Amino acid sequence: MKFYCLLLFSAIPTFSFSQKPKTENVVVVVLDGLRWQEVFAGADSALINRPAFTKSKAKIDKKFWDNDFKVRREKLFPFLWKTVAKQGQMYGNRYLQNFADVSNPFQMTYPGFSEILTGYADPAISSNRLVTSKSQNVLEFINKQKGYEGKVAVFATSDLFPALMDRDNSKVYINADSDSLAFGSAEFRLLNEMQRLTSKPTTERPDLLTYFAAREYVKAFQPKVLFLALGETDAFAHDGNYDQYLHTAYAQDKMISELWNLIQSIPQYKNKTTLLITCDHGRGDIIKNQWTSHGPQIKDSGQVWIAAMGPDTKPQGIFIEKGRYYLAQLATTTAALLGFDFKPETHQAMTPIFSIFRK
Ligand SMILES: [Zn+2]
Repeated sequence: MKFYCLLLFSAIPTFSFSQKPKTENVVVVVLDGLRWQEVFAGADSALINRPAFTKSKAKIDKKFWDNDFKVRREKLFPFLWKTVAKQGQMYGNRYLQNFADVSNPFQMTYPGFSEILTGYADPAISSNRLVTSKSQNVLEFINKQKGYEGKVAVFATSDLFPALMDRDNSKVYINADSDSLAFGSAEFRLLNEMQRLTSKPTTERPDLLTYFAAREYVKAFQPKVLFLALGETDAFAHDGNYDQYLHTAYAQDKMISELWNLIQSIPQYKNKTTLLITCDHGRGDIIKNQWTSHGPQIKDSGQVWIAAMGPDTKPQGIFIEKGRYYLAQLATTTAALLGFDFKPETHQAMTPIFSIFRK
């Protein structure tokens, strides 16, 4: 049966490019558990008006509220809406019947990242820390391609990443959680010390340090593929702290903006880099109190969003066509942007999101 399946898969024609993509570098940013509801409609009044979740309503209203949802979302995500949505594409606006979902049944971080990296939902990858097979990981695959050896780097706030990426057997540079930040400038080495002192919502390091580490690495080593996973949105949401969830979402947008500005100032990247931004899972919303959580028991927490911008991406803004997209498509999309056809050995990966790189 297995042999038959493999034959069947190999008979499926592979896609081909009408022209080679202009993209030479890809930056993938994943914002842990950041809901599509905030991305497309800004801060949520139902949560701002509940003292159990929002401690400083006046402050939050002043910074993030407007009656017009278009102004509101821009206040929360200025880079996403003023730059990415203008120059690129946004998927997963369910208000317009455009759907983006996880393809795994667990709706949690580990399986979410696993499908982003492998292109399929492995039923064995549940909440357990089972390794995502390196032979089926798009970052390992790209790191083996000519010209890309040693040019793939992962920076993550989450302590799941060493297991997720099977670091002991990986040639990809992986810097996660409490890993040393001691490279780059002397000023930056000080951050390594600060890492132990900074207050944070979980035992994981703050996103800001993950971001600084990635930024310094880009300056020093100029990776062709950078995978940046920020995590504080999920941590604050689990705490039921909507004030800080919003502040963090805003800060993450700022970090991506600064990273993009840096990249556009370096010749290797300028106008040759595609930026993909997404999340690993959604959170509850139908039952409002469930915004703090996600998982198989929370039906709507598999709903996600995807943003893309780069030299091969048509500036289309919000995708309004009825359609459905999956996180798992990002593995083959990332490879395809660089001209590679990524095929895991034992599973069939989902096809790329062709509209991201075909003008
Ligand atoms: Zn979580």
